[in-house]
Amino acid sequence: MDTGPGFFLAPFPDETLHSLLSRYCRLTGFASVRQAFNDVEHGYSFTRNTSFPCHLKELERLLKPVTGLDANAFISRHTLLPYFQPFMSPEQLAITRRQMHSRNGQGLKMRLGLIASSLERYVRVRFCPVCLAEDDQIHGQAYWHRIHQLPGVWICPHHVQPLSIIEPAWIRDKAKRCFLPTDDELHAHSLSLEVSAVQRDTLYRLAALSWSVLDRDCDPLQPHVVQQNLLCGAQAHALVSSNGRLRLMPLAEMLAIYFKGLPSTEEFSRLLPVSAKQAPSWILKLLRKPRGAHHPLHYLLLADALGLSFDHLAVQRSGQMPTSKNITTTVTTKTDGLARTLKEMYSEGRSLRQIAAVTGVSVSTLHVYAVQLGLRVRARPSILLPVLRQQIRDQLIAGKAFSEIAKNCGVSLTSVYRVLRMEADLKNMLSGLRLEQDRESRRLRFIMERERNTTARACADYAWLYRNDRDWLKEKVHRIGRIARKRTAAVDWARLDKELSRRIRACAWSLRARPGKPLRISIARIGRELNSSILFEKKLPKLPRCSLELKASCESKDQFHRRRLEWAAKELRTRKASFGAATLLRFAAIRPPAGNAASYLMKLIKEA
Ligand SMILES: [Zn+2]
Repeated sequence: MDTGPGFFLAPFPDETLHSLLSRYCRLTGFASVRQAFNDVEHGYSFTRNTSFPCHLKELERLLKPVTGLDANAFISRHTLLPYFQPFMSPEQLAITRRQMHSRNGQGLKMRLGLIASSLERYVRVRFCPVCLAEDDQIHGQAYWHRIHQLPGVWICPHHVQPLSIIEPAWIRDKAKRCFLPTDDELHAHSLSLEVSAVQRDTLYRLAALSWSVLDRDCDPLQPHVVQQNLLCGAQAHALVSSNGRLRLMPLAEMLAIYFKGLPSTEEFSRLLPVSAKQAPSWILKLLRKPRGAHHPLHYLLLADALGLSFDHLAVQRSGQMPTSKNITTTVTTKTDGLARTLKEMYSEGRSLRQIAAVTGVSVSTLHVYAVQLGLRVRARPSILLPVLRQQIRDQLIAGKAFSEIAKNCGVSLTSVYRVLRMEADLKNMLSGLRLEQDRESRRLRFIMERERNTTARACADYAWLYRNDRDWLKEKVHRIGRIARKRTAAVDWARLDKELSRRIRACAWSLRARPGKPLRISIARIGRELNSSILFEKKLPKLPRCSLELKASCESKDQFHRRRLEWAAKELRTRKASFGAATLLRFAAIRPPAGNAASYLMKLIKEA
């Protein structure tokens, strides 16, 4: 067994593990860590330049005697885990630490939701030119800082300088090589990140926020506390209504303005709102119910947009949920606009409930304003008096629609349901009544369908009637059957053929013109659209025109695929997405027959 080196370097503050081991190699003259540690088992795993180096118990065995650092100390001071751990559950953190101690990294990022967030692919190797000079002066050597490697950090939080980045394509397969940021080879492949004057402030705040998380190395936060704190921040911007619901439109507008201060490339391209009218779904998830793991950058971006620091996010406070009182005061500052909307919509005949849904202000608040504005709002009774209850009951028995009853009696829909719930006999009576109505309408539909020469079993309601109304069905089938047989003999096939072929052409045309994702035009689909499936199945020999028309209108699989692909390409282009053959086929929901996307696409293009 290898006993480890006789001496080792003192780690620098915020240095990545990869940087520390690279410096050691450079000093001792070994070409790789593997050689430096005499081919130690799993050495590749902790020397890689990665967010979560693994097999650290092995490293502890080698280095603890000379550095006094154990695996946990390495994780806390020299890996990126402290940045992630506040937003992980204690169980997730325990599993992750165990895996980093003694296993390889397989499946680790997947479990943490990093792959799902699709931010992981934007992990870059970065450095701050000013830090390099300063490190050289203070420590005698420049090194890789953890903070610069975090996604979303484009500016050094210590020097407010844009970071430099190593060309991703060049460094991609060199994760095991012991580079240091001052290497000439590396500088030939580094470029400075473009940060405009508008983006500088926001990017600096984000970097400082990321630094406060990484540096704090705190335990997992309680998800509900974080959510409540975020909601509190949203409330301070009047983005939460008095009933605790998010005001989606103002939220989307606020975010659209916020994201204008951020770049739209690299990791930020995954986070931007698609439109100014809709908040990104990841933000709604964090504010509503953050299930599963979310990338810390999600939390930090939202916190920054809401003007919250990491302390605001982490500390549990009491009495955070919005109360109608403080919301009302927020709203009064905007009363002018609200009063106008309320007046306009009320005069258009909208109810307070409908106006509440649009403005995000509660019905009771709107009611107060309406009274202040002198609008004649009919107050709903707060107690259901016996007379009113009887009135509702009568109308229910008369079979009126619930919404109509609510309107007639001046009560809410909920009150109608409440009366229904209170009286068991009424409920039973009504369900009997509804069953009868249902049966009547099914019988009528059956007769009409049967009259159109459909066989009894092909009628939509046959199965229901067979189960629930068998006697009536038997009698009816028997009677209509005789009439129908007579009529069948008199079918004018030539006329039907002409008429139906015309309808097939029109149907195929309208299917082709239908907006959205194209559907395959087949005999089955046209049959369903024209309610003529049975005719197409059994009587096509009697309908020569129809059969020609169907042949001409229906698509082969390849024809259909070509049409789908045209649509998919157009759609992807309007979304300004760059795409290859595989993405195109996936978006078009087409599985290439031979399994090779590019060759199948070429075949389709050649045949077109
Ligand atoms: Zn710096």
